[in-house]
Amino acid sequence: MTIAFSHDWLPQRVVFAPGEAPTAVAAEVGRLGARRVMVIAAEAERALADRISEGLPVAVRHSDVAMHVPVEVAERARKAASANTADLLVSVGGGSTTGLAKAVALSSGLPIVAVPTTYAGSEATSVWGLTEDRRKTTGVDPRVLPQAVIYDAELTVSLPVAMSVASGLNALAHCVDSMWAPRSDPIDRALAAEGIAALNAGLPVVVDDPSSAYGRQYALYGAYLSAKAFSSAGSGLHHKICHVLGGMFDLPHAQTHAVVLPHVLALNAPHAPEAADRIAAALGATDALTGLQSLRQRLDAPRSLREYGLAESDIPAAVEPIVAVAPPSNPAAISPQTISCLLHAAWEGADPK
Ligand code: NAD
Repeated sequence: MTIAFSHDWLPQRVVFAPGEAPTAVAAEVGRLGARRVMVIAAEAERALADRISEGLPVAVRHSDVAMHVPVEVAERARKAASANTADLLVSVGGGSTTGLAKAVALSSGLPIVAVPTTYAGSEATSVWGLTEDRRKTTGVDPRVLPQAVIYDAELTVSLPVAMSVASGLNALAHCVDSMWAPRSDPIDRALAAEGIAALNAGLPVVVDDPSSAYGRQYALYGAYLSAKAFSSAGSGLHHKICHVLGGMFDLPHAQTHAVVLPHVLALNAPHAPEAADRIAAALGATDALTGLQSLRQRLDAPRSLREYGLAESDIPAAVEPIVAVAPPSNPAAISPQTISCLLHAAWEGADPK
């Protein structure tokens, strides 16, 4: 077998510092020489952000955060950064908060120190996203890649169990899709396999003992690996589906990923035996889909899109936009009928076939 590929490593410092976020963030802000920090954190994460930013030179605190970064929300944050002559952004929160910091960095070039509090993984990618008129646009720009990421598992113990599960499965979806995404290379697949194993080890512990940082540090480690793999491999079919659904119907991001994942795995696994074997091994199972379904059962994972507000009558409008962006290299052949069947099964929470 010939091994021939190229892989870009993104320039970013990552720090795993359980219980030490304030010190670790201060060290990064000092290293980057910032004097006027804009702290971005949603109201719900204000207490965490206040604790982290206590010793920082804060110029402005911004809490106007919304899922999928609507353009008007991005504009308000950009104005706040410029009105307060911020020279660095510290984001504390989930993917929505990181995404808002990225929107500011995209237009201003300001550096970001990201402190993630979910398993979304946006902090480890140079992908930005903005939503306008129910359409989500994404792009890749080196300016939006945080200069440093601080992972502190203690900050995630307040993340409710149901959200932890959905977010953890969002990370698992990054790993699974990275096995066959358009730019998937051997390094991505190695990171993805290790990410699946870490999430498979950590998430059941999070469910059993949510207030302990122990399982959560494995989940964060898995989330980081998943994002590194995804960032390099690009969006596979799973991400394309969730991206279209999220933008068109304002569905909750992590839960949508959690529901759709087994259906995409069931579709692709028979056409990607090597990837399927690797996913199975990482899950400690003999079959990838069985392994995923057994983990989902253990976690009481989200099952159907209808429970998150999708109407069955919405499905036809999503089919063509998904088919239009489905990667031609997807292991299984894609047709409007394939996508329509998949969406109906995900909508009703049927067992994936
Ligand atoms: P989110 O950031 O909206 O957070 C979900 C909920 O969890 C919110 O209500 C938030 O307040 C709450 N929360 C977060 N941390 C908490 C904590 N520690 N304790 C208690 N509550 C907490 O959702 P998300 O799933 O983290 O991120 C989704 C967004 O991220 C989407 O817009 C998605 O497109 C984007 N995303 C982008 C990339 C990328 O590479 N650009 C990657 C993944 C996700």
